[in-house]
Amino acid sequence: MIQENLAKVQQTIHEACALANRSSDEVTLVAVTKTVDAKVTESLIRLGQLNCAENRVDKFLAKKAQLQAYPEVVWHFIGNLQRRKVKDVINEIDYFHALDSLRLADEIQKRAKKVIKCFVEVNVSGEESKQGIHPDEVESFIRSLAEHTQIQVVGLMTMAPFESTEQEQREIFKKLHLIQRKIANLHLTNAPCLDLSMGMSNDYPVAIGEGATFVRVGTALFR
Ligand SMILES: *Cc1c(COP(=O)(O)O)cnc(C)c1O
Repeated sequence: MIQENLAKVQQTIHEACALANRSSDEVTLVAVTKTVDAKVTESLIRLGQLNCAENRVDKFLAKKAQLQAYPEVVWHFIGNLQRRKVKDVINEIDYFHALDSLRLADEIQKRAKKVIKCFVEVNVSGEESKQGIHPDEVESFIRSLAEHTQIQVVGLMTMAPFESTEQEQREIFKKLHLIQRKIANLHLTNAPCLDLSMGMSNDYPVAIGEGATFVRVGTALFR
């Protein structure tokens, strides 16, 4: 079942890349394992799906401990991270997708024992319920991270509203891509900003069409 779902998602990624004249090597599938246990996650890892994402600190730490036999797994943390929990999680992950405040950045700087690849989360849609930096403030925010030597801004992340049309999704992803290019062109030392983390189960083909390099897919793998 999982094997079929994974093959299907991979196929959809290939097709979306072909349609956009992109190489599928440019897109990393991040499996969002937050709704399944360590056993199911393990079966995915055994199928070669090594990029996995979690969004809750305690569940992530428990799961990572259960999967110690797989040090090759690349762990992504995609959830809101409370400052007091940074010390528990930051040295256990490879990518953090939800950097959205200077206070959080300060805490990461203080606690990280290695350089952490971070995505700055941007609230492109303007939904009040959403986390993220306002699009107009992304550049000044990233510039304010210049002394945060433990943070490398690898790219930007966003989420389209849950109920949105394909056209609305497309516009949001396009906007994030524009901001990403603007930041990349600044050639800031700590912010290459070449990646775009966007697209979930219901919109990842659209996101790939608009330049996504990391898609975060949960439901489509486990339904
Ligand atoms: C849960 C989650 C996903 C995956 O969503 P699906 O719709 O299950 O694919 C992606 N990104 C974030 C930030 C999430 O919390």
